[in-house]
Amino acid sequence: MVHHEGDSDRMNIAIDGPAGAGKSTVARKVAEQLGYVYIDTGSMYRAVTLSAQRAGVSVEQTVKLAELVRSLDIALEPGEQGQSVFVNGDDVTALIRSREVTLQVSHIAANETVREVLGLMQRKLAERKGVVMDGRDIGTHVLPQAELKIFLTASVKERALRRYREIVDTQSITLSQLESEIAERDRLDEQRDISPLICADDAIVLDSTAMTIDEVIQAIVKLSRTKMAEAK
Ligand code: C5P
Repeated sequence: MVHHEGDSDRMNIAIDGPAGAGKSTVARKVAEQLGYVYIDTGSMYRAVTLSAQRAGVSVEQTVKLAELVRSLDIALEPGEQGQSVFVNGDDVTALIRSREVTLQVSHIAANETVREVLGLMQRKLAERKGVVMDGRDIGTHVLPQAELKIFLTASVKERALRRYREIVDTQSITLSQLESEIAERDRLDEQRDISPLICADDAIVLDSTAMTIDEVIQAIVKLSRTKMAEAK
């Protein structure tokens, strides 16, 4: 039998979970190992937030915010440190990680039009399969048909500690401050009306509190191979 590389040979993997659970590192490495495309949907919400801040558009200005998000050309490209993000041709990869953006992004992400526009873009990116997409609502709303859904979590303490170790040299923020900011972002993401952060019924829950990143990656790669074999 002639083997054609086609859609049926690939699947989509959704990785959802709270802030700082390690989703982006894990999703990127899993994609690398499977030869898939990695898509960080949080970066798209961050790009919209940065653009709104630059344009002086606030969360309350819903009409202006809707106009703004529709006018943006957001492009994701594989980069050295994961994924580069461009807005209307402008490289905003580093800027979207600022504290200013991080503190506002969950408010912008609660806007209906923002979710609608980004959700459509995300679905389009996954059309041809072979995508590992991380976010909050991928398994529940964006790709409900994804063949493999992971809900990656860890205790707030552990997530804050991981983040703290990453930024302690460059930013002056205490561990307890980080912990409360992460908890607040979880609360906003879990309690918003439209596509909140919840675990899909058919998602596999991985608690990474006591796992290394490598163990999580291997667990997901193994699950994807099992799913693939089952589908044949
Ligand atoms: O993943 P990251 O922490 O960069 O996401 C930033 C924010 O974007 C989240 O806290 C959430 O408010 C929003 N987001 C979302 N839906 C997604 C991905 C991110 O609402 N699928």
